[in-house]
Amino acid sequence: MKIGFIGLGIMGKPMAKNLLKAGYEIVAYDVMKDNLDDVTKAGAIPAASSKAVAEECKIIITMLPNSPHVKTVVLGENGVLEGAKEGTILVDMSSIAPLASQEICKACAEKGVKMIDAPVSGGEPKAIDGTLSIMAGGDKTVFDEVYDILMVMGASAVHCGDIGAGNTTKLANQVIVALNIAAVSEAFMLSTKAGVDPIKVFDAIKGGLAGSTVMNAKVPMITEGNFKPGFKIDLHIKDLSNALDTGHGVGAPLPLTSLVMEMLQTLHADGHGQDDHSGIAMYYEKLAGTEIRK
Ligand code: NAD
Repeated sequence: MKIGFIGLGIMGKPMAKNLLKAGYEIVAYDVMKDNLDDVTKAGAIPAASSKAVAEECKIIITMLPNSPHVKTVVLGENGVLEGAKEGTILVDMSSIAPLASQEICKACAEKGVKMIDAPVSGGEPKAIDGTLSIMAGGDKTVFDEVYDILMVMGASAVHCGDIGAGNTTKLANQVIVALNIAAVSEAFMLSTKAGVDPIKVFDAIKGGLAGSTVMNAKVPMITEGNFKPGFKIDLHIKDLSNALDTGHGVGAPLPLTSLVMEMLQTLHADGHGQDDHSGIAMYYEKLAGTEIRK
């Protein structure tokens, strides 16, 4: 079966490669030639535009940075809707605003194109392993049609509700991850300043109630001072911005999210936008004048 794949960055690249390994034919497109070349070398067929991908494929996956990129790729000039036939399924796996998913889905429906939103959690390592957690929204029958394809890229795929529900779930995920990294950074700065080795602290508490997937993934990066992305600070700013807009829209106050958003904005202003979000530790390091290192 031929699947279109648009957006071959940190996440899209390994996801497309896993589909190739599973025996699917991939027609790929990215505005960045290097990213397209990389996936072409792995066996994908390169296309000249999103429209060209849609002309070739009945199922199209998008993995793009944010709402405006998905709107450009799907609704814009030389976009998916210019090339898609009636009955085409669009699986948008980008993390975008739930309202944007609903708008794009409506425009797709007018052309007879079916869409689900299916963002992911797990980052690059799980994208490479094909063990992402996938959270989806939209028509359940469409979700069921693409379930086997999703399970090539993920260890789980849960249908969370109507279109946009996948991205609402992803926003909840991103709030928890950002606040967890901030809590870990604050706590590890406390123990560092008090003179206790951060590795000992990690070993002592990781199996207890404070332990978390975030702690296991990010403490080794923080104690190495390795902030190579992973998940970029600028992308987390995008997610918290979408969370705050959505929260304000539905009347859910998000005081802790606002606070961590300002930490991320400070890091961005300091030139760390392209660093991994474990770099929230650098915010604390600047405040305290000490590095959290083993
Ligand atoms: P990325 O910036 O590495 O990749 C995005 C890709 O989209 C790039 O290759 C870019 O060239 C391409 N692109 C942008 N505009 C385009 C257009 N108009 N046409 C074609 N291609 C275009 O980002 P990423 O880290 O792969 O993240 C993608 C999405 O997945 C984001 O929404 C992000 O929030 C989400 N996500 C990322 C991670 C992570 O750890 N990196 C984890 C979970 C979810």
